[in-house]
Amino acid sequence: MYVCSRCGEVLNMDLVPLGLQCPKCENRIFYKQRPNMKKVVIAR
Ligand SMILES: [Zn+2]
Repeated sequence: MYVCSRCGEVLNMDLVPLGLQCPKCENRIFYKQRPNMKKVVIAR
């Protein structure tokens, strides 16, 4: 899973080839997104 750094479009790809562009904003910078990156903070 990759997230466009500009518009937040999520690309469901296991492997992003070189030269990939965001289909919406043509941005080329992506963040890797992992499903278990969410942290839950419990305030007491
Ligand atoms: Zn984008």
